[in-house]
Amino acid sequence: MTDLTGLTMAAALDGLAKKDFSSAELTAAYVTAMEKARPLNAYITETPDQALAMAKASDARRAKGESRAMDGLPLGIKDLYCTKGVQTTAGSHILGGFTPTYESTVTQKLWDAGAVMLGKLNLDEFAMGSANITSYYGTVESPWRKAGDNRPLVPGGSSGGSAAAVAAHAAIAATGTDTGGSIRQPASFTGIVGLKPTYGRCSRWGIVAFASSLDQAGPMTRSVTDAAIMMGVMAGYDAKDSTSVDIAVPDYRAALDGSVKGLRVGIPKEYRVDGMPAEIERQWQQGIAWLKEAGMEPVEVSLPHTKHALPTYYIIAPAEASSNLARYDGVRYGLRVEGDSLDKLYENTRAAGFGAEVKRRVLIGTYVLSAGYYDAYYLKAQKIRTLIADDFKKAYQQCDVILTPTSPSAAFALGEKMDDPVAMYMQDVFTVPANLAGIPGLSVPSGLSSDGLPLGLQVLGKAFDEETVLKVGRVIEKAAAFSTKPSFLAGE
Ligand code: GLN
Repeated sequence: MTDLTGLTMAAALDGLAKKDFSSAELTAAYVTAMEKARPLNAYITETPDQALAMAKASDARRAKGESRAMDGLPLGIKDLYCTKGVQTTAGSHILGGFTPTYESTVTQKLWDAGAVMLGKLNLDEFAMGSANITSYYGTVESPWRKAGDNRPLVPGGSSGGSAAAVAAHAAIAATGTDTGGSIRQPASFTGIVGLKPTYGRCSRWGIVAFASSLDQAGPMTRSVTDAAIMMGVMAGYDAKDSTSVDIAVPDYRAALDGSVKGLRVGIPKEYRVDGMPAEIERQWQQGIAWLKEAGMEPVEVSLPHTKHALPTYYIIAPAEASSNLARYDGVRYGLRVEGDSLDKLYENTRAAGFGAEVKRRVLIGTYVLSAGYYDAYYLKAQKIRTLIADDFKKAYQQCDVILTPTSPSAAFALGEKMDDPVAMYMQDVFTVPANLAGIPGLSVPSGLSSDGLPLGLQVLGKAFDEETVLKVGRVIEKAAAFSTKPSFLAGE
């Protein structure tokens, strides 16, 4: 039989339809792969029994001719999505023992479309981070290694478990969430595709909140076509999320076939940072050349407030996080550390339950929201956020999509940047503007760094125009023909 875990979702759906293999066989292959990938620490919770039961149900539907859009495909779920009856940790000690009695809207949609759950994937604590090093459940290792250097690398973050699992063929695809780049940056570090949809495109209901005005759910896959398939299932209005938008979900997969001829691609001159390796710039120029060859027209655009995006994000995101995380008090969820008084119970629980990065964010967030500093920081940041969104609106009068590098570097070694939060925050320099503006962004693997690590290009689009973003991403994917596999898969 073919190497089942090497198939894309699209290829697996074909194989299932032709009865080349069953979902039970595909899922069993993934359960084995998930066990083999344990050294990467990508999964916090494995649910093999549930997976095999779901696979059997899928095969029964298929036998009756009732198969659905993602029937029988084994997925990993970022452990920020609440899953009924399966512990949900958000990578935090404070949620220890928390088992939701409900299912997030997006995961419910995936199960309703026939997908199979392999387990819950590791992440930075409460999705705060860029390297998957802040999880209470341990760091995640990338399946990649630099050429001639066996030091473990980070998979990116916060959806590092999702990225590592998909790249190491321990899930056919995974869900991620992206508040400031957490789908796109790990996708670029591990050579996979990651899509952050428009804010409001996917329901946030049942996803543990980090920064509610920025958080978005999205797919992490091994091809642009797979991202289009999965996006079609994840997207859609949900009455339970007041910020989800009630507009029709297009056929994203069909949109991939359209031509890109005559579309204009904006190249923002501000997307360069000091110390950015020359090879990132070269990838970018290569991407522009590919799109030109496909008939697109490059235009220089200006996003003048880009330099303020990172500081703005690191005010707004912690402000919202400090408010969202106030609910973890030892009374209602997970961990409880007793104390002599109610205040002491709160203090003891939060002191023991949150890690250092989460505490840092709660402190920053509380500070910028406090009387006396609110106007100087939070209000100012909100105003700059509007200017950043306006930059994009103006740029989109001149172009249809924008092309940038996804990240200013390739993956770095585990242990690097760990004692320097600002260096870590710099990782998000090209991704946070899209979250602040609420627009969609896609990372597509475009090539290798000089030491053999994946690099990604980012396609940004107009709000709710994921179709064009995916279509342009598909052009880059075809031109790049990225096929290098991580060293973890060597020998397969
Ligand atoms: N790295 C960013 C942060 O630490 C983004 C995280 C995310 O998108 N969840 O906040």
